Amino acid sequence: MAVSVVAKTSNAEAFLAQLGVTSIINAGGTNTRHAGTIPRAECMAAMQDMCGVFVRMDEYMPAVGQAIADLIGVPAAAITSGATGGLVLQAAAAMTRNDLERAARLPDATGMPNELLIQRKQRFSYDKMYRLPGAKLVEVGRPDGCTAAEVEAAITANTAGLIDVQSPFKAHNGVPLPELATLGQKYNIPVLCDAASMLPPRANLKKFFDLGADLVVFSGGKGIRGPQSSGIVLGKKEWVEAAHINNAPFANVARSQKVSREEAAGLLAALKAFLAEDEAAETANYRLMSQHVVDRIQGIPGVSARVMHDYDHHYPQAVITLTHEWRGPNRDEIHARLLAGSPRIYLSALEPGNILAIDPINLQPGEVEIVADTLRAALLAAIK
Ligand SMILES: *Cc1c(COP(=O)(O)O)cnc(C)c1O
Repeated sequence: MAVSVVAKTSNAEAFLAQLGVTSIINAGGTNTRHAGTIPRAECMAAMQDMCGVFVRMDEYMPAVGQAIADLIGVPAAAITSGATGGLVLQAAAAMTRNDLERAARLPDATGMPNELLIQRKQRFSYDKMYRLPGAKLVEVGRPDGCTAAEVEAAITANTAGLIDVQSPFKAHNGVPLPELATLGQKYNIPVLCDAASMLPPRANLKKFFDLGADLVVFSGGKGIRGPQSSGIVLGKKEWVEAAHINNAPFANVARSQKVSREEAAGLLAALKAFLAEDEAAETANYRLMSQHVVDRIQGIPGVSARVMHDYDHHYPQAVITLTHEWRGPNRDEIHARLLAGSPRIYLSALEPGNILAIDPINLQPGEVEIVADTLRAALLAAIK
């Protein structure tokens, strides 16, 4: 299967050379600091098509949102500027509900329920985005987990929403989403789910809504491979309506994160193509690519390698562990050497601190071999 239908061009390399910037091979996944992902050809074509047409954005954006919702099979959806834009919209919607006067007043959130409960273990680097429209974060639970009873004890008249983070290394020992949803229903408070990166598998597009989240956020620029700057907020009609009144084109709190008509069209086209793809074939391909890396790394003293495919690696990835027998510099130094090398190679370096992962999603034809060979050479050269 073609991983990418957008080839690297010599134009792009020439442009980068003019800027004095060197491209990287992205074996570390779809993150913003390393330029996200490869927008699908269908996405770029749809963007081009929409550029010469004018619309009323207050009609058009909800209509594209509804088309996205219909494709996924959920009641409603709004379009936003990345999943982080979605966090802003979720918080705003939870505070204002369908009250236009409140929406006009944000980020001054005095006089309305404005606290969002977040599980201590699920705190993450982007959670400050919830505070942009004026909400306050209130931590519940312990550093290693949280129970529904702990959440319930923290709910007050000021509680506007309950946050649920579905993300690698964040979800374990948290309150199961259905239990959070039961609490949300009992107190009439929305459950706000951030599942930004959890695609593929495609089933996740609907899963967290089905498990009881009122609003679920996904990045448009990760697994869907739409515009890097796009995102989806999907869920119940009333809550998506509440998101719309805070969103561009209105002069409200999310106006600073507007999405263009062509980006919206590109997102819808990318989602269509994403859903039409054969996931079993895609997964098999990622497994094959990951296994290639594992085979090249196997046998290096102090290093173990295996293909992992579970909640934290939601499609197959090659996970490289520096074991206690490793006699060389630490993981971060190896990571830095690869990023500074020629070619520059970016690997994933998340948790725990002795692990590197090769995420195949952004690798173009021929690159997995380069990554495997370069990583092998770097590890062998680093052994003291
Ligand atoms: C990637 C990610 C985001 C940010 O998504 P963008 O689309 O880049 O804004 C937010 N939350 C989580 C959990 C993520 O993984």
